[in-house]
Amino acid sequence: MTDLINDVPTVNDVYKTLLESTKAIPWKIDWATLQFTYIGPQIEELLGWEPASWQTVEDWATRMHPEDRQWVVDYCVSQSQSGIDHEADYRALNKSGDYVWIRDVVHVVRKQNGQVDSLIGFMFDITERKKTEQELFKLQKELEELSFKDGLTGVANRRMFDNVIETEWLKARQNKQPLSLIVIDIDFFKEYNDCYGHLQGDDCLKQVATTLNNVAARSRDFFGRFGGEEFVMLLPETDNNAAWSIAERCRQALFKKQIPHDRSKVSQLLTISLGVSTMIPSINDEHNELIDRADKQLYQAKQKGRNCIQSA
Ligand code: GH3
Ligand code: MG
Ligand code: MG
Repeated sequence: MTDLINDVPTVNDVYKTLLESTKAIPWKIDWATLQFTYIGPQIEELLGWEPASWQTVEDWATRMHPEDRQWVVDYCVSQSQSGIDHEADYRALNKSGDYVWIRDVVHVVRKQNGQVDSLIGFMFDITERKKTEQELFKLQKELEELSFKDGLTGVANRRMFDNVIETEWLKARQNKQPLSLIVIDIDFFKEYNDCYGHLQGDDCLKQVATTLNNVAARSRDFFGRFGGEEFVMLLPETDNNAAWSIAERCRQALFKKQIPHDRSKVSQLLTISLGVSTMIPSINDEHNELIDRADKQLYQAKQKGRNCIQSA
């Protein structure tokens, strides 16, 4: 499209040259037809698939790692439908069968009437960055195993819990005092990740941990992350009624945070289910019994419809 009269490039030429000489790969998708209307030629150098082979969003989705596909597609569709700019990291398949880490940064273009017109974005090759991240993650895991603090949420970790429950179990047995345990599990958290992405999932776990960490106030009360989206609260010298009240305080404290969860089947907000068990340990009991009982109650709470407490 060179201007033949003056023999100078048009503005369009300049933009096209700029777009196609960056490392990032530009693309555009028409929202009504879900077809690519443009993809930068650099895509071929990165993935081996020629630009003409990128026709529809199906081509994009099928060339994605199976473990990433479902949540990335669900997440991008739901964000686009709501007209929200977003980004997602995923592994894209190249022509030789290997995977390349991509960060796709998406801008939603609206028509004058507010409806979504198209999506435009850039794909960045973040393979090197991911490698470094994975190495850091591995190091962090190794460090975590040596420490008592959960790397993501900053609250006590499983290792700390194992220590504390052993000590408190012995004290409770000696003093013939009740020891209570609350196990807490986020409802429909898999759907939360699918809907909002894993990074926001991680942020959500931090928020839940911070909220619940402040619920029990006595100096020997313990709160920690048991693993994944499960937390535990160990309450020395606390009978079953009192433990139930604290479990209810946890439920209420989280409810007050009003964390949206569009995919939950029980509420529009993030909720938790809680299982409570109490024992006065006798000489023949093991502390695993307390955990097993609380787990069984948690299972009952899930069965009963979630967002509730079951106690024994
Ligand atoms: P339920 O109501 O029955 O508990 O359903 P759920 O979806 O919460 O239960 P499930 O055990 O099937 O899923 C737990 C999810 O928690 C799956 C896993 O990807 C997610 N998860 C576990 N640990 C983390 C984490 O560290 N970060 C993020 N973002 N997600 C996590
Ligand atoms: Mg769980
Ligand atoms: Mg859960």
